Amino acid sequence: MIFKYIARNISIRILMLIGIGVFAGGPMFARPLFKNSVASTEIDFIHTDDPSVAFRMNEVGRERKEMPDKRSGDGDDALFLENVGVFELTYSDGTIVEVWASPQLESSAALYARHCADAMAKLPHALRSQLKHVVVHFGNESAFAEERGGFFVVYSENIEIRLANNDFEETVFHEAIHVALEAEHARSEGWLQAQKEDRAFITQYAEQQPKKEDLPEFALFACTYFKHPERLPQRVQDELAQKNAQSPEVSSAGYGHLGADCKVAL
Ligand SMILES: [Zn+2]
Repeated sequence: MIFKYIARNISIRILMLIGIGVFAGGPMFARPLFKNSVASTEIDFIHTDDPSVAFRMNEVGRERKEMPDKRSGDGDDALFLENVGVFELTYSDGTIVEVWASPQLESSAALYARHCADAMAKLPHALRSQLKHVVVHFGNESAFAEERGGFFVVYSENIEIRLANNDFEETVFHEAIHVALEAEHARSEGWLQAQKEDRAFITQYAEQQPKKEDLPEFALFACTYFKHPERLPQRVQDELAQKNAQSPEVSSAGYGHLGADCKVAL
């Protein structure tokens, strides 16, 4: 649906599913191709040596910060921590993003801040520029975004696992999509209409939470298709390429704001 949404009138997505035999036609729902976009695929959507925007990292000091943690309850006071390590990242495209590192990370705080900084340096400008800060906690939980606050939360041991699996840049991309685009697009009339017409989801995760996870789940495939189609599985790539040839309006002239920015920067 994102292609339809991006190109305004074409859905590559449904044709991709038809082409690889997943979509059975008629009023049935297709089965998702993957469990989720990042951790359960072997696809390296974003490569470690892909171009990235230069940045400098400045250690601001220790401050009291609001540090939401999925392991704690919703008590307001529990969200605030003292002695949070604050790092300011200034990217050469003018974007400034802070990293707030839990005091539990101690001397590793700068290392995790740099991991986040490196991954954000590969984001399209339109995504990075919407981020205000990143919260880094100690532990192994999956990342989540707080789109209204303009930030996402990651956990140190999970960063290590995702780095080892070559998944961390993709994790940051996914969370950045939540922050930058979810409020405006995930429940918009156009997106929900495209969803309805497609009757298929790229991942089970998107299918389970269609009004929240479908946008970031599909965006990773969409941006990769536009910029580096060869990184997608051959069969998926073939179908996308075929559809793209059939529908010139999905080519560069038809990119919407997300597609255009992915094309430039992913
Ligand atoms: Zn998500």
